[in-house]
Amino acid sequence: MTDLELEKFKRVLNDENLKLTPQRVEVFREVCNSDEHLEAEEIYLSLKQRKVNISRATVYRTMDILYQHDLVQRMDIGDGKWRYEHWLDCHQHDHLICIRCGTIVEFVSHQIEEIQQDVADKFNYKLLRHVHQLFGLCKQCRKTPMSVI
Ligand SMILES: [Zn+2]
Ligand SMILES: [Zn+2]
Repeated sequence: MTDLELEKFKRVLNDENLKLTPQRVEVFREVCNSDEHLEAEEIYLSLKQRKVNISRATVYRTMDILYQHDLVQRMDIGDGKWRYEHWLDCHQHDHLICIRCGTIVEFVSHQIEEIQQDVADKFNYKLLRHVHQLFGLCKQCRKTPMSVI
C-alpha cells in the first residue's frame, strides 16, 4: 500500500463519514499485500488469524467502499461471491478461470485492449473499466476424468 493509496483511502472514508481506523487500514493492507483474488470472508479470516479485532460486517463494508472508489477491483467468477484484488498499482488485466478447480490465471492482451477501444469509439463511449473473463478447464483438470471429482 503506497502513501498515495492510504491518503486516498482516508479521503474516501471521510466522504463516507467514517474514520480511518487501524482495523480498516489492515483490511486494505491485506488486499494490497496479496497477489490472490480474495473473498471478503478470506480477508476476514486472515485478519482474525493475525489477531486483528474486527467484525465481519466491517470487513465487508470496507471492501465495498474500497471497490466503489476504485481502490480495489472485484469480480464474480460465477459462484456469486466477489473476489477482490489490488487495483491502483496493477495494470488492466483479464482472467482465465478454471470452472472445476477455480484456478485464476491473469493475462494481458493488447489486442483485446485495442478491440475494446475500437468498440467504445464506435459507440461513442468513454471506457472506465472492463470485465473480461474466460471460463474453461485448466490443463490439470482436463487430465482428470469428470467422474473422479
Ligand atoms: Zn482446474
Ligand atoms: Zn486479477
